[in-house]
Amino acid sequence: MVRYIGERHTHPQNHPTPSSIDLNEWQILAADRVDGRPLLALIVGCRDLHVEYMSGTGKRRILEHAEVGQV
Ligand SMILES: [Zn+2]
Repeated sequence: MVRYIGERHTHPQNHPTPSSIDLNEWQILAADRVDGRPLLALIVGCRDLHVEYMSGTGKRRILEHAEVGQV
C-alpha cells in the first residue's frame, strides 16, 4: 500500500530550482518516512521540470531535467 508518494508544486521560473524552504521541507518529510525509501520531489517550471529523490539523511539525487512538452 502506498501512503505517500512525494511532493510536487510549481515555480514561476523557466528552469526551476528548489528553494531552501523546499529542501528543508523535503528533508523533514523524507526523514519521517517509515519505509526508508527516498522522497520523490517534483517542481513544475515554465519550461522545465525539476525532479529529484531525497533520502532521510538529506542526500539528494537529481534526476534528468526534462523540457515541458517533450516526451
Ligand atoms: Zn519551491
